[in-house]
Formats: sequence, C-alpha cells, structure tokens
Amino acid sequence: MNDGSRQKLRVLVLGGTSEASVLAERLAVDRRFETILSLAGRTARPKLVPVEVRSGGFGGVGGLAAYLAAHTIDVVLDATHPFAAQISGNAIQACQRASIPLIALERLPWEAVTGDRWQHHNTVEDAIAALPANPQRIFSGLGRLSLDALNAAPQHHYVIRIIDPLDEALPLPHSTLILARGPFEAEDDIILFRAHAIEAVLAKNSGGNAAVSKIDAARALGLTVHMIARPVIPDRPVVRTINDAWDRLTAHHASPAKRGV
Ligand code: NAP
Repeated sequence: MNDGSRQKLRVLVLGGTSEASVLAERLAVDRRFETILSLAGRTARPKLVPVEVRSGGFGGVGGLAAYLAAHTIDVVLDATHPFAAQISGNAIQACQRASIPLIALERLPWEAVTGDRWQHHNTVEDAIAALPANPQRIFSGLGRLSLDALNAAPQHHYVIRIIDPLDEALPLPHSTLILARGPFEAEDDIILFRAHAIEAVLAKNSGGNAAVSKIDAARALGLTVHMIARPVIPDRPVVRTINDAWDRLTAHHASPAKRGV
C-alpha cells in the first residue's frame, strides 16, 4: 500500500551524546522512520548504532540547510550536548530556512543541594581563573574540548578524564590522564577521588545521569565543585527526556502535514 499515511518520516539526529545513541537505536527498529545520525567526528571510536551515520561539520547554517534539502529531511532532532551551542544555533536557523520542524532534547541542569560546595562560573576560562593560587589536586571532568584552558593555571595537578587518547603529550607540568567512557558510578568516583587525593572538581553543568557521578562523589566527600553554567541557546522547542522526544517524533509521524503529505 502506498497511501500517504504509510510514508516514513526522515529524521536527522544531531548527536554526540548517550541520549542521541539511545534514540537512534529506537528509531532504527521502528519502520515509521528513516534515520541519519550526525556526529561532529571528534570521537575516534563512537558508539556503534544501527542507523546511517554521517560524520563531520556541515559547513555552517547554509551547509546544514542544504543538507536538509538534499536529503529530504522531515524533522531534525537536536540531541547534542548542552554545551554544543554552535551546532544547536545553526540547527535553529537551518530548520527555519528549510521550513521543517526542530525538536531539541535538552536535559535539565544539575542543581546544588544543601551542603554542596559549588562555585558558579559562566565559562571554563572564568573557572580556571578563579582557582586558588596555591597548587591543588583537581579533577577535570570538562572533556577534551576544554583541555587548553587548563594551561592558564599550570600550578595545579590535574587528574583529567577523557574518552580517547591524545595525539600529543599534555603541555601541563603536573597531570594524570585517565581514559574512560561513561556512564560512571558515584562509588567508583569516590574511590578515584580518594586515590588521587582530589581537592576540587571542574565540571560543566551537563545535567543527566551519564556524567553525574563526579558531582555525587564530590558531594559525598565535601569537595568544592567549580560548576560552569551552560551557554545560552536561542529559543527553540525543547523536550527534557528521551521519552518526550520519542513522543514528539511519533506525533510528527502521525501528522501528514508535517511529513509534507
Ligand atoms: P559546537 O561548538 O556546537 O559545534 C562546532 C561545530 O562542529 C559546528 O558548527 C558543526 O560544524 C560541528 N558539529 C558539532 N556537532 C555536530 C554534529 N552532531 N554533527 C555534525 N557537525 C557537528 O560543538 P562542540 O562543543 O565542539 O561539540 C562537538 C560534538 O561533541 C557535539 O556533537 C556534541 O554533542 C558533542 N559533545 C560536546 C561536549 C561539550 O562539552 N561541548 C560534550 C560531550 C559531547 P559546521 O558548522 O561545519 O556544521
């Protein structure tokens, strides 16, 4: 049968997060959808997902808008990291140009609870500038993209956890590199922080469960957390959970107008 109600919804998932992988896996086994997962190409061995995967930048708003048209995308699901503000801003503009809907999956940020020793900063650079002059042992959960910023305070010993090995040695005089892919458990991070005599934690306010272990471990050990606020992203239709994103996608499939039928 070839009536319009049977048409597949072509979904572009902007990924690089565990949520994007989960949604791509769900979409892959649902015949109502045809899915392309887009990755920035920064991770050497990204998690395998059973959908078409493309990798690398689109070339700004114009490039993304052209991609959407060329691949007859019906809806974009932006499931990128909350700190990936450039691609999220591009997606807003490109979807407007292409006149197709955008759904942004944006986890709620973490909130401090009573007793937490959080210091709030607007940027990674602000957080590094606010570190004490005296050397400390500091855990960096900032990720690979923020390593250069640590050079501004080289007196500290940084314990740095990232996914992939580095091509070059870190220019920092005192550092320990830990290669591991989350999600992590708080109990394990408590052991890790004790083993490295960690005194403070650097963290982006990513939200979600995959990276919260370091926050929970710092809470348990009474450590200072230098918490970096999220970049501001222009207004867009936001959902907070994987299930809400899924509901929005299925609603789009159910709406013939939204499938261009
Ligand atoms: P960004 O600053 O927002 O993006 C920089 C450029 O990278 C974009 O303009 C785009 O290039 C390209 N790009 C980013 N995400 C892409 C995607 N999913 N598919 C295709 N191109 C993409 O992003 P970022 O902070 O560098 O993060 C890069 C990726 O890592 C994101 O996909 C994000 O989900 C993931 N990630 C980021 C963080 C973080 O802390 N920033 C943490 C965990 C995971 P063009 O303009 O050429 O299209």
